[in-house]
Amino acid sequence: MLPSASTISRRLLGRLRDVMAGGGTAQDRLDKVVKLIAADMVAEVCSCYVMRAGEVLELFATEGLLKSAVHETRLRVGEGLVGIIAAHARPLALAAAQPHPHFAYRPETGEEVFHSLVGVPIIRGGRVIGVLVVQNKSQRQYTEEEVETLETVAMVLAELVSSGELINRDELAPVDGNAVLPARMEGVRLTSGIGIGMAVMHQQRVVVQKLVAEDPEVELARLKDGLNRMRHSLDRMFEAQDLAFGGEHRDVLETYRMFAEDAGWRARIAEAIQSGLTAEAAVQKVHEDTRVRMGQVSDPYLRERLHDLEDISNRLLHHLVRGAEAGSSLETELPEDAVLICRTMGPTELLDYDRRNLRGLVLEDGSPTMHVAILARALDIPVVGRVKDALARIEAMDPVVVDADNGQVFVRPSDDIVDAFSANVEARAVKLATYAAMRDLPAVTRCGAPVRLMLNAGLLADVPQLDATGADGIGLYRTEMPFMSRSHLPDVHAQTLLYSKILDAAEDRPVVFRTLDVGSDKLLPYWNSADEDNPAMGWRSIRITLDRPAVLRHQLRALVAAASGRELHVMFPMVAEVAEFIAARTLLDMELARHRSGGGEAPSKVRVGTMLEVPALAMQLPALLPRVDFISVGSNDLTQFLFAADRGNTRISDRYDVLSPPMLNFLRWITTLCGNAGVSLSLCGEMAGRPLDAMALIGLGIRNLSMSAPSVGPVKAMVRSLSLERLEDYMNTLFDLPDHSVREKLRSFALDHGVQL
Ligand code: PEP
Ligand code: MG
Repeated sequence: MLPSASTISRRLLGRLRDVMAGGGTAQDRLDKVVKLIAADMVAEVCSCYVMRAGEVLELFATEGLLKSAVHETRLRVGEGLVGIIAAHARPLALAAAQPHPHFAYRPETGEEVFHSLVGVPIIRGGRVIGVLVVQNKSQRQYTEEEVETLETVAMVLAELVSSGELINRDELAPVDGNAVLPARMEGVRLTSGIGIGMAVMHQQRVVVQKLVAEDPEVELARLKDGLNRMRHSLDRMFEAQDLAFGGEHRDVLETYRMFAEDAGWRARIAEAIQSGLTAEAAVQKVHEDTRVRMGQVSDPYLRERLHDLEDISNRLLHHLVRGAEAGSSLETELPEDAVLICRTMGPTELLDYDRRNLRGLVLEDGSPTMHVAILARALDIPVVGRVKDALARIEAMDPVVVDADNGQVFVRPSDDIVDAFSANVEARAVKLATYAAMRDLPAVTRCGAPVRLMLNAGLLADVPQLDATGADGIGLYRTEMPFMSRSHLPDVHAQTLLYSKILDAAEDRPVVFRTLDVGSDKLLPYWNSADEDNPAMGWRSIRITLDRPAVLRHQLRALVAAASGRELHVMFPMVAEVAEFIAARTLLDMELARHRSGGGEAPSKVRVGTMLEVPALAMQLPALLPRVDFISVGSNDLTQFLFAADRGNTRISDRYDVLSPPMLNFLRWITTLCGNAGVSLSLCGEMAGRPLDAMALIGLGIRNLSMSAPSVGPVKAMVRSLSLERLEDYMNTLFDLPDHSVREKLRSFALDHGVQL
């Protein structure tokens, strides 16, 4: 009987271990390794290519090719079959290599006599650092087991290549520009705020030293033990977090726990152990494999799961490497004023750090809905994501300014920049104290006109901001977050529970629930979204929920149940025509009737409205107004549709100004018609939260503004310093101007009239 693949690779790994532990230079050891692999795999050739600076793969050792080619033959990433393996970070096995379109003939190697080829990438930290290749003269069909064996060997080789003995470690890091000069790096704002501190590199804190094991049974037992200890420590951590968080944060942690219980993941680790690896090396191998595979996936949800996997793998490694004495917590001390730099971070890794010293977080990867961003927002930590090459360009202990508000990071900043941001942080603290002192004062203009200031919210954790800011209620509750952070559609029960908690937390203040507004940039993990040329104008929002009425009905059912005996405010998003509003409202009426016939207590009052984000709806206001209780202008979407300028395209998203004659005229038209019909009008886009823009909206006659929590203080300060008569007259001079923007004119008006901006 032929020996099984795992026996082959165990035997090979045992020999490799002896070579690695033996004497000689790193080059000597590599030479022995390729010889060993060729013999073990009955191949005429085994070669190892190592990635050099400038993304070039250099032949470093070979058994079977001409030795004179070593350190001479070089291929760019993407060039030749070796370059293709590196570019795709995937194995390639070909019985006939030469007819392959990417085959690049290198006469100095003498490889023309070899027909079949199998190669695997050598990967370290998610980056390809070399390629390991085996060739045969015959047209050999390599088996899957052989490819896997080679992958396992490549993992062992990764240690040697990255040890710094073969090539300088710096060559393995992509460096861009001069590392010691001050630098400004651009990214994406994932949470808001400013943080100043010293860079601390967040690292995989566990280094796997022992890769090869004698006895798989012992390793399987160690794995089981490590998994058990990890599970207990997670339970304890989640219990502790439960005291601090509720709602969606809990969901994030639950999703994470499910990952830890994933049977497929555990089975793959066990398989890797069977092939001769230690338990910790097996965890690392499975993780590297998944990372490479998922790194090529563009689906944002799947990419985010990768962060969770990374987190959980690290945690398991900790338990395996440090053993029982490691304790349950990975609590990591931070120096004072630390800014963490990492490619990405799992949600619980953030919780391991001492928050009191943490000033900010810089990620190479990331999106606002990733789990670590959701937690960081709740903890008020400024985060900038998608900062290209952050790990290569920032050194530990570099001074760093994280300007999350503007999605930028300053590394080794000049004293001027540090001074400016320090002053900004201090001024912010002073302003925050002023706003806090105004919390219980009414938002009334100097001339006595009241303005309702409401909150935009999307997490249960946002609701306590009602008390913190003194806002009058929630003018826009975006319900999509729990739909986006889960792996499946939340059922009626889960939604009812969440909406009840929100209403409980808001006490007697109104909460306007906006029904599911997904599609475009807000993708659900479990619904396949077809590629659309213009997703912002595509199948999104009310269009989806009217096409899938069961989803909308379930959400409305949950809202009606949650609002039993209290007020219910429902708002439909992205309505383009009255017929859509009527269709959505009919579903709500059906759910109200269903609730009543089931014996449920009806909401004490039901108010139904629509967002106005699509210009067409404004052209149907006479038909719409008698049918709605309120309208809320979504200026974010309205602006993109009014100017035909994609709000997500940074090249043009700032090209047109909301404080411009077209937008102001449009808003005046809506305000006049709503006023005449006695329908309540509010505005809940970003402009409502900017004091100058809010001043213009009040000047137009809009008296309800809904904004994010940090904007309430600044807008209230503006309102309380404003006098309306002069403003209304002044605004009347702006509508017919040919200007691109009237922002500066309005700013001058504010300055001249003592309006606090
Ligand atoms: C808007 O479009 O202005 C709005 C408030 O909705 P969202 O930003 O959630 O699309
Ligand atoms: Mg919108």
